[in-house]
Amino acid sequence: MSFSSSVKTELADLGVERDCCLKAETYGLLLFSRSFTASEMLLQTENRAVAQRWYHFVKKVCAVKPVLQESKAGVCHLSIPSPSDRIKVLETFGHSAQETSLHVNRANLEDECCMQAFVRGAFLSCASMTDPNKEYHLEFLMPRRRLSGDFVSILNELQIPSSQTLRKGVGVIYLKGSEHIEDLLTNIGAMSSTLQLMNVKIYKDMRNVINRRANCETANITRTVEAALTQAEDIAFLSEIGEFEKLPARLREVAILRRDNPELSLSELGKLATPQLSRSGVNHRLTKLSELAAELRKKHSKTKG
Ligand SMILES: [Zn+2]
Repeated sequence: MSFSSSVKTELADLGVERDCCLKAETYGLLLFSRSFTASEMLLQTENRAVAQRWYHFVKKVCAVKPVLQESKAGVCHLSIPSPSDRIKVLETFGHSAQETSLHVNRANLEDECCMQAFVRGAFLSCASMTDPNKEYHLEFLMPRRRLSGDFVSILNELQIPSSQTLRKGVGVIYLKGSEHIEDLLTNIGAMSSTLQLMNVKIYKDMRNVINRRANCETANITRTVEAALTQAEDIAFLSEIGEFEKLPARLREVAILRRDNPELSLSELGKLATPQLSRSGVNHRLTKLSELAAELRKKHSKTKG
């Protein structure tokens, strides 16, 4: 089961205690269905639990006879075939058959509890969510563009920031960021999905820390190898111009150790020296070596030129 449908199944199982919230959720379920007019009321969903909820809530709240049909492909079609039933539904929520553009009728959302129930209904009818392992993205596909503004204001009142966009002429309201999505899921009562989302986030954050640390170690190794390569070039140059043999013994020893062990860190090189040298002792000598090489290169190119 996708994450999206497991959230919906969790919500579709939720009990609703207060009548005001039952009405508000039913309003959300209907208003955000595919059609909600005097001539057609229709919802299509692949989630059977959502279909059952829609069916029972509409029947109970509006006292009408909805019809639930399931196609062979497993898609549930919910409708209200009787014209007088559809008028009854509209009137239950303070709408009339004459309305041309539907707005959210706030009279159906008495309290904060009702707004949350309404958003839950909308979620069940028209929202989907990307698997949080891939991306934090939750969106409501507005069946009617005019509803977008009203719906965003309701989310704002619940302190859930959202964004709006148009996709192929269809209004989309979406949430990004795990925190905002968690807030929405908590508000509409999807507690176990919220916990699941938090777990995914903790796991992802941990994996990021581990990756960052691994990258950091790789960077250190790269730096060591690059420095060793430069030092090897310096030593080769000094030998070429016959200066290598003239180096003081202590400097020559470190240079040879470096040349023969390019992969070792400075402190590891120090341990190979006789007597042993500290990390900074090795560093000091190698710095001197490269300064000397730089100086001689300059001189060398002058005499050549
Ligand atoms: Zn309520």
